[in-house]
Amino acid sequence: MSPDPVLVQRWIRPEVQALTAYHVPDAGQYIKLDAMENPYRWPAELVEQWLDILRTVELNRYPDPGAKALTAQLREAMQVPDGMQVVLGNGSDELIQMLALAVAQPGRVVLSPDPTFVMYRLIAEVAGMRYQSVPLAEDFALDLDATLRAIEQHQPAIVFLAYPNNPTGTLFEAAAVEAILRSAPGLVVVDEAYAPFTDASFMSRLTEFPNLLVLRTVSKMGLAGLRLGLLIGAPEWLGEIDKTRLPYNINVLTQASAQFALEHKAVLDEQATQIRIDRARLFEALNVLPGVHAYPSDANFILFRVPAGRAGELFEKLRDQHVLVKNLAGAGERLRDCLRVTVGRPEENQAFLAALAKALSA
Ligand SMILES: *Cc1c(COP(=O)(O)O)cnc(C)c1O
Repeated sequence: MSPDPVLVQRWIRPEVQALTAYHVPDAGQYIKLDAMENPYRWPAELVEQWLDILRTVELNRYPDPGAKALTAQLREAMQVPDGMQVVLGNGSDELIQMLALAVAQPGRVVLSPDPTFVMYRLIAEVAGMRYQSVPLAEDFALDLDATLRAIEQHQPAIVFLAYPNNPTGTLFEAAAVEAILRSAPGLVVVDEAYAPFTDASFMSRLTEFPNLLVLRTVSKMGLAGLRLGLLIGAPEWLGEIDKTRLPYNINVLTQASAQFALEHKAVLDEQATQIRIDRARLFEALNVLPGVHAYPSDANFILFRVPAGRAGELFEKLRDQHVLVKNLAGAGERLRDCLRVTVGRPEENQAFLAALAKALSA
């Protein structure tokens, strides 16, 4: 017997019914350049050492609820300033959710530039908050005047700034971020998911701005499968936000694996360096394709514009050639003719470029 749709409609909150679930395509046999994953695996001997550690993990025990050893390693690896508190999440997505849970009240506002990471809106709406976006400038830089006006008008509880931004790859000007930090009445979360691929960061500036929180993740540095993110900021804020965390949110396998990975962080750093080199090559190669305009990126992906009206068709032609990228054509007016490609291994990037050249000329 299936549930009565009337009952579903009666009990599920209207905000939730209005949402469309986050869609993740099936990977299958594709060259997967759609999700900002690090394309490299670990060397075989590292995998063996990791498996030796996993053998010792006690799955019958609850994890350390404070993940103390892992947190200490993360503090060092990510150069967290002394005196700042760290809260871990099951991916930074969970931390965005904890932030929303900690501040949500009817009428409260979450504010971000547009386009940006879609989870800010999704989570704000699930938490029953109002989401306000401010269009980015033509070149995807922050429109500072418009942002400051919107902050004044809407008095947001949280401003989210992805730094560098997803899906544009733009690194906002530090001076604009500083101006937002000074004028925001509530929290400003600088989301540094792409920190491995840029030299810019607000981490060392946490002590300067009392309303600044920095969000990091191990996902884009090569551990997306582990689901581990961290929120960093003053203990006055973090102590409150930590109360919304479920006690054992970082499981034993993630704790053991992340600790092992951080002991071998040099391997991940080398992969990030390689990705940055290949990003520059891919950017140049994209920009010489007829009718293609690639936007400069400080992340491990590149947003590119294709001839008007062809994004959907080119996406499908790439998929027919077993290359999966992200089609942003449905993600708002500004991205109408845009696709986003993650920087893969050199041979994957070549395969993508060849497939795109073929699709363009067809
Ligand atoms: C990918 C991404 C995240 C998600 O990180 P997880 O730790 O995997 O949940 C957060 N912020 C931005 C801007 C991202 O692009």
